[in-house]
Amino acid sequence: MTNTVGTLWVVATPIGHLGDLSARAREVLGRVGLIAAEDTRRTAQLLLHYGIRTRVVALHEHNESSVAPSLVTRLLAGEDLALVSDAGTPLLSDPGFVLVRMAREAGVRVAPVPGPSALMAALSVSGLPIARFVFEGFLPVKPGARRARLAALAGESRTLVFYEAPHRLKELLEDLEAAFGAQRPAVLARELTKLHETVLDGTVGTLLARVRTDADQSRGEIVVLVAGNEANEAEVLASGKRLYQLLSAELAPARAARVAAEFTGAPRKALYAPGIDPDRAD
Ligand code: SAM
Repeated sequence: MTNTVGTLWVVATPIGHLGDLSARAREVLGRVGLIAAEDTRRTAQLLLHYGIRTRVVALHEHNESSVAPSLVTRLLAGEDLALVSDAGTPLLSDPGFVLVRMAREAGVRVAPVPGPSALMAALSVSGLPIARFVFEGFLPVKPGARRARLAALAGESRTLVFYEAPHRLKELLEDLEAAFGAQRPAVLARELTKLHETVLDGTVGTLLARVRTDADQSRGEIVVLVAGNEANEAEVLASGKRLYQLLSAELAPARAARVAAEFTGAPRKALYAPGIDPDRAD
């Protein structure tokens, strides 16, 4: 008898509202042999809500390396398993990386059951540009390391997204103000999909003032979003255009634009598009 290898299903679960568990997630959680969960008690509550009776084992940052090999053995023996975290998408600032890596290296199929994440939920309602963004997750807890990371990000032109614990929100905003300036547009997305959902927009300075005077704004779960550095984007575009002009004396315009875009990070189409003069289109 040939033994088919099982599938590891990576299943996203709600970040607050229980109604956000997808129909496919329910079906998969109900039929796998075992669910590996960050916190068995929290997952048990979710399963109870949906009448799912599948057995749950703990897989968290402290035991992941020791538990993952036995889960991969079960997968190789043909069993289907699911991986969930406490909330949202596993591996996204959550455990699961070791298991997914090990399963893939063993030739096991790893399949997503996509769904909620605080990252995408916050971006989608922020009103900030999200075509390109940088997810930083949790910054280092130690003040020196956190400030060094923020200093390295000060010129970043894409929207930045941070996860933060409520008791560190004020310190994060203070560090953001020091690194990026008080005027940088920012958004606090709090308790998304829950009763006290709040999305506040303003600048780093106005949001810091609000958090200092209104203790409710640092309660619950929070995503902090900060607009990218537009001045830097303008500088990148200007140097792209300078380089394009130099190169186009030697190369065909399309090639000059490609090289200048590659070197400077400026969008190629902003340097040269057939039939369009980018300087007139600005
Ligand atoms: N894996 C999860 C995901 O897909 O977003 C995130 C897990 S991470 C350990 C928890 C952090 O996500 C919280 O500290 C907070 O920054 C953010 N978060 C989770 N749920 C949230 C919610 N309902 N509203 C706002 N932020 C949330």
